[in-house]
Amino acid sequence: MARSGATFAERAEGPARDARLHRALERASVPYLRKRARALEELEDLEELRTHAREVKEEALRHLPFLLEELERRLRQRGARVVWAARADRALEYVSELVRRKGVRLVVKGKSMTTEEIALNAALESQGVEVVETDLGEYIVQLAGERPSHIVTPAIHRTRADIARLFHERLAVPLGSRPEELTAAARHVLREKFRRAELGVTGVNFAVAENGALVVVENEGNARLCATAPRIHVAVVGIEKVLARVEDLEVLLRLLPRSATGQKLTSYVSWVLPPEAAGADGPEELHVILLDNGRSELLADAVLRESLLCIRCGACLNACPVYRKVGGHAYESPYPGPIGATISPRLVGPRTRELAFASTLCAACREVCPVRIDIPRLLLALRSEAVERTETAWWERIGMKFWRWTMVGRRRYELAGTLLRWASRFGNGSFRRLPGPLHGWTRYRDLPAPAPKPFRTLWKERVRTDGRPN
Ligand code: SF4
Repeated sequence: MARSGATFAERAEGPARDARLHRALERASVPYLRKRARALEELEDLEELRTHAREVKEEALRHLPFLLEELERRLRQRGARVVWAARADRALEYVSELVRRKGVRLVVKGKSMTTEEIALNAALESQGVEVVETDLGEYIVQLAGERPSHIVTPAIHRTRADIARLFHERLAVPLGSRPEELTAAARHVLREKFRRAELGVTGVNFAVAENGALVVVENEGNARLCATAPRIHVAVVGIEKVLARVEDLEVLLRLLPRSATGQKLTSYVSWVLPPEAAGADGPEELHVILLDNGRSELLADAVLRESLLCIRCGACLNACPVYRKVGGHAYESPYPGPIGATISPRLVGPRTRELAFASTLCAACREVCPVRIDIPRLLLALRSEAVERTETAWWERIGMKFWRWTMVGRRRYELAGTLLRWASRFGNGSFRRLPGPLHGWTRYRDLPAPAPKPFRTLWKERVRTDGRPN
């Protein structure tokens, strides 16, 4: 479990040593990646599809103001109430006021990272309203008093045994119950909540400007129940979720479930339409909150706007070696992992800027991203911002300047290599403890010494001996 700490490195220290956490993360993320690879292999046109998906999202971002107005018009035409929330406060104020006005005491929620972003639960609970998460993973973390640790699988950090213990303590389910029995126990509790709730809250995966449809992709049917069973439905929509046309969905729905869970299609793809369009079914009122909360700032940034292409499949988290060692809580953002590091500073707050450094830049995230977001490039841009703002330590800035000066001059580079080779003779082929601020590198591992002969020397010797380099 991540302890609270001032920096990501401090918060990550506990999880990085937690073998139980590593087991839980590996047991979930590795099979997801395997299933993802298998599901994508079946697509003969995979690369074209990825390109097409990116184009669809890029086009939507290019015309975002127009598409949002179109979406609003369609929704209003059919009887939905639409609210523009520039910041989280406005969204919270609107929902709080609605809940007060309607005398709501119980709210059911479908999994929504957008509502995690604005901390909706805390705002409603402070008014004395009971808020129940109805996605099984979210329900588990809510019972445990935790926050989700993954954008698709919120309880990924918990093993089956952990969950059985938790259900025993909180729901009096017998210890040693099988997963089906645990699920049935949760279902039993949640059905009653759905029956009694006056208001349901969901996020959405896509909002289609062409017809005003809000599309929710899920496996449990709980989001559909949140959107249809209570009298009032509130959908919180990040403005980057808008798509121009219904046909764009076909492209993204082929990639999203495959990338997220390795499924060809999730069990439920719900089209939430405003009351008039839905006929006699569904809630009496639909309130749609179009949430900006930093997205316009991302859009205005020539580099970081690429992060708005994200369709929240979670594949980059599963592939990230840092995420897989520390889990999601150490990030202290509802959006952990590689994509989280790129969007959190604008959507969650400047305190998350350091997350850009929580990456090895191995580019595994870019490889798996269905819309080919170049996350390492975005992380580097954020790191540059941090350096420009002098948020990095003085010795690090000087060290990096010195490093650059050494690397760009051949003689200096060779001299540095010679000095390092000489120094490594005192350390049995590796450096076990570096001095001063560099000690962080050797705190958990040795620094290998340079090869006895540099490549350039080996090359020359080979040419001299064989007359050719191979
Ligand atoms: S950045 Fe790409 S891989 Fe990561 S969640 Fe978004 S769409 Fe998925």
